[in-house]
Amino acid sequence: MSEDAFAALQARDRALLWHPYASALDAPEVFPVTRASGVRLTLADGRELIDGMASWWCAIHGYNHPTLNAAVRAQLDDMAHVMFGGLTHAPAVELAELLAALTPDSLNRVFFSDSGSVAVEVALKMALQYWHSRGKPGKQKLVALRNGYHGDTFGAMSVCDPVTGMHHLFGDALPAQLFAAAPTCPPGTQCGDEDMADMRALLAEHADEVAAVIVEPVVQGAGGMRFYSADYLVRLRALCDEYDTLLIYDEIATGFGRTGELFALDHADAVPDILCLGKALTGGYMTLAATLCNGRVSHGISSGEAGAFMHGPTFMANPLACSVALASVRLLLEQPWQDNVRRIEADLASGLAPAAGLPHVTNVRTLGAIGVIELAEPVDMRTVQPLFVERGVWVRPFGRLVYAMPPYITGSADLATLTAAMVDVVATLGGN
Ligand SMILES: *Cc1c(COP(=O)(O)O)cnc(C)c1O
Repeated sequence: MSEDAFAALQARDRALLWHPYASALDAPEVFPVTRASGVRLTLADGRELIDGMASWWCAIHGYNHPTLNAAVRAQLDDMAHVMFGGLTHAPAVELAELLAALTPDSLNRVFFSDSGSVAVEVALKMALQYWHSRGKPGKQKLVALRNGYHGDTFGAMSVCDPVTGMHHLFGDALPAQLFAAAPTCPPGTQCGDEDMADMRALLAEHADEVAAVIVEPVVQGAGGMRFYSADYLVRLRALCDEYDTLLIYDEIATGFGRTGELFALDHADAVPDILCLGKALTGGYMTLAATLCNGRVSHGISSGEAGAFMHGPTFMANPLACSVALASVRLLLEQPWQDNVRRIEADLASGLAPAAGLPHVTNVRTLGAIGVIELAEPVDMRTVQPLFVERGVWVRPFGRLVYAMPPYITGSADLATLTAAMVDVVATLGGN
């Protein structure tokens, strides 16, 4: 494709399309992509970018992977889709068996849906329906952490950080939830009573109203890329038991190895009642999410007034998505992924370290295959995005955070290029 074609596609896009979290009036520049293979995105004018985002943390095996391509092709010849009401198929059964085997034993019921936000909606509805079935319909509130992110639909949005989630824009249409201070005990440390004080006070005051506590375990992702101690989860589990509320882990960002354990819950001995998975589930090929729950929740709901869980997406357990998810999870497990994530962690840490010396940088941190440079001020995306493209990397910051969450197949040389670009671009931002 020529440079003219590149610009023409940009113009047609600008005329009609709305991009995520973007203005339709003064749309920021977008970059046409024609191909993605391995860890490289090819732009329509032939430029190649090293991908530092894994397409919003999904493409853990990189792009155009022969094993995943083959899984989609094989399933396509059998059936692309059938409804899940009254029917079932091997891809859904095998994927559910695999997810149940990889997660704690008590999580033994799997509900598939089509995106992370919907998996969170499903989790919230499970919690509310559970308490209704148990004869406690007053338990309808959710407790979430400040700086959290759980998705963009109404229920999910209601448990996102109220400030960064701009809750005031949606008025009374958004259910009002309860928010506890985000944990501050760093990974690898013990949390003290003071770290739990806010959560304990909320639960003590609202025990009769709280259906569930929802958290992103160990890593708060899109709400601020904050890392915290797994010990917090142990104490939170104890508090949830003490105040008789369910516990939901949203592992949509952390699942499938990103934090160095297969799931973030593996960092702690604290099992939730409900677990949300998404993003890397299909290796970035198809949109699919899963909500797992324990017998307490599934029996409670099923023995209640409705006698059924009241949810059922049209594209539930889509066979193409389940097949590629199975292939992706198996591909992950059959390679030394943990060594790879550790290597990426070390490469990100050493590559990003020079940024810590910059005056406008407040913090540099890494955990698993996540590397973060936190700045004092928000970055201007319109200036920053083209700078990264010029450097041959795809990095998409948000707010005050310039971060990388690359595919696990990224080699050390590419990581060096990626982190050098991040440090250099951040350095130029401080030059004014
Ligand atoms: C991305 C994300 C979601 C939302 O998933 P979508 O597929 O974008 O709807 C929910 N929770 C967490 C922790 C996420 O990172």
